[in-house]
Amino acid sequence: MGWLILILGILLLSALAGLVLLNRQRHQLEEAVWEAQRARRELEAERDRLTAWLEGLRPGGAEALLLLDRDQRILWANRPAMDQLNARPGRALLEAVPSPELEGLLEASGIAEIRWKDRWWLATSWMWPGGYGLALTDITRQREAERARRELTANVAHELRTPLTTIRLLLDELKPADPLPAPWERLIQELDRLIQLVSTLLDLARLEAGEWPLAYEALEIRPWVQSWIERFAPLWQAKGLTVHLDLPEGLQAWADPEWAGRALGNLLDNAIKFTPSGGEVRVRAWSEGEWVAIEVADTGPGIPPEDLPRIFERFYRGDRHRGSGGSGLGLAIARHAVEAHGGRIQAFSEPGRGARFVFTLPAA
Ligand code: ADP
Repeated sequence: MGWLILILGILLLSALAGLVLLNRQRHQLEEAVWEAQRARRELEAERDRLTAWLEGLRPGGAEALLLLDRDQRILWANRPAMDQLNARPGRALLEAVPSPELEGLLEASGIAEIRWKDRWWLATSWMWPGGYGLALTDITRQREAERARRELTANVAHELRTPLTTIRLLLDELKPADPLPAPWERLIQELDRLIQLVSTLLDLARLEAGEWPLAYEALEIRPWVQSWIERFAPLWQAKGLTVHLDLPEGLQAWADPEWAGRALGNLLDNAIKFTPSGGEVRVRAWSEGEWVAIEVADTGPGIPPEDLPRIFERFYRGDRHRGSGGSGLGLAIARHAVEAHGGRIQAFSEPGRGARFVFTLPAA
């Protein structure tokens, strides 16, 4: 009997201990579940925060924003991308926007203007560890405004050219015999300047509108630059400037000599014009992969940092040079002439230490 009670007691105690253990395990399990739920809530809140952040993100003022995986499938798109481009997560980008330019842009990471469904978009792409990012801004209105401005300039220049040339011819007939009185000389000079300006504006408009097919040829850089330096000799010699040339033999660009010459000529003209007597002008050229780079540097006053971003705009002239008689078109033409070749032009300057311009042309 005593044994039986003892065994029963042991069994009871083991059952009790089992119960306590079970209860503890249940507690632990509940805690784990609760912990998992909390982590999930945190993750969801994090996801909402990230989505809100991405929705509010406007890199460079872009409207439509997309994140793509490495196969160019849409992982995420903001509202404007969904509404205007019908971009849905899971779709291939090229299904939503079948543009070969866009595909090329993603591979290259850069900026391009693309046309899609009668609208123009400024597209910027970049890489991230999971694939690609793409930001698109609708620039249709800007492009239309640009076109209207171009047409207006071209029309005004065109309308001005004929009467100006007629006046010039009439003045030639009317002008008194030599020696020409000073006001007459001034009149003819100013008129010539006006005719030159109008014809430059017309050229720019035609170049911008792509109505000026470039006559490409293999252009030997060294003799070409030398001929420009000779052409400007009266100007730099009169100021006592020293010209240094560093031009490799045999370097060739694939360019239109007339238009490439407008770039080089305008840069040389400025370098000579802005460098005080006794200063130096340096022209260097070198090969840079598929490009030929040409540099024009001077020891003039340089360009203030606030002017640097604007000097390539048409009619822009630095404060100090407003009264210098320039038109403010030289660098605008240089930029267009270089870009028409697919090249780039850049200006560098530290005030007081001269100005340096570098432009590229395709290598021959
Ligand atoms: P312009 O020479 O007729 O004024 P450009 O378009 O050629 O017009 O140049 C625009 C402006 O850029 C100039 O007014 C001047 O302020 C600045 N600039 C250009 N080249 C140089 C240079 N080599 N040194 C200093 N300033 C320069």
